[in-house]
Amino acid sequence: MIARSIKTKSVRATANHMELEDRIREAVGRECDYLGFADLAPARDAVRWQCGLDVDTYPRAVSIGIALIDDIVDLLPQREERWAATMYKTHSYEVINSRLDHLSSRVASEIQRSGHRALPIPAATRISDERICGPFSHKMAAHLAGLGWIGKSCLLVTPDRGPRVRWTSVLTNAPLRPIGKPMEQRCGKCTKCVDACPVSAFTGRNFIQSESREARFDAAKCEKYYDEMEAQGMVQVCGMCLYACPYGKNEG
Ligand code: SF4
Ligand code: SF4
Repeated sequence: MIARSIKTKSVRATANHMELEDRIREAVGRECDYLGFADLAPARDAVRWQCGLDVDTYPRAVSIGIALIDDIVDLLPQREERWAATMYKTHSYEVINSRLDHLSSRVASEIQRSGHRALPIPAATRISDERICGPFSHKMAAHLAGLGWIGKSCLLVTPDRGPRVRWTSVLTNAPLRPIGKPMEQRCGKCTKCVDACPVSAFTGRNFIQSESREARFDAAKCEKYYDEMEAQGMVQVCGMCLYACPYGKNEG
């Protein structure tokens, strides 16, 4: 009898996971191109370093991605022309970030209705000018959810769309089951993003979980380049590391 009641309880718990996962899928619907559930334990130190959040409080993340519009990304080589930079900034940052924030808010509400904690992280916000980072690495969550690998560009690279995706995350203690496992990097000998950067901000090293971002990327060089654009009255857009990646690039 006891064994039967434990079994019944565990079957119900599984049903509850699936029910919540289905409700999350329904909440994002066709608005989202990528959806994954990540176990954050392997990134415990990185999460704490970035914003002081404790993985024990939020052991999992929902990772949500929207693919950028190819014809907008393909304007990047013309980014010194004001019209092209403005179109890119509007449709690759502002509109997509706003869509992502709406999705993470909807997902957080669903999780909260199920009786669990949910912390939607803004798609794009800065918490430290010194460390040049946001409150949480959406790319790390997408990587841990098995949606892609972190490339030499420090961008999350998906097999089909490359780095042409923007991401957001909802942290939670809901018992969501990770769908995939972290993907092995497929950059191989490619250095296109490294070569395309106008300020040589990348070292060309492959991503290693235990290494800090600085081993691969000098964020201050990229930041300075953007500051210089602003000082010259230009629209602050670069993204050549994203544009150059052969994954997801329409060469046709
Ligand atoms: S956005 Fe531009 S400057 Fe910054 S890292 Fe990428 S290529 Fe380099
Ligand atoms: S451009 Fe090449 S090295 Fe850079 S992220 Fe893409 S595949 Fe990796």
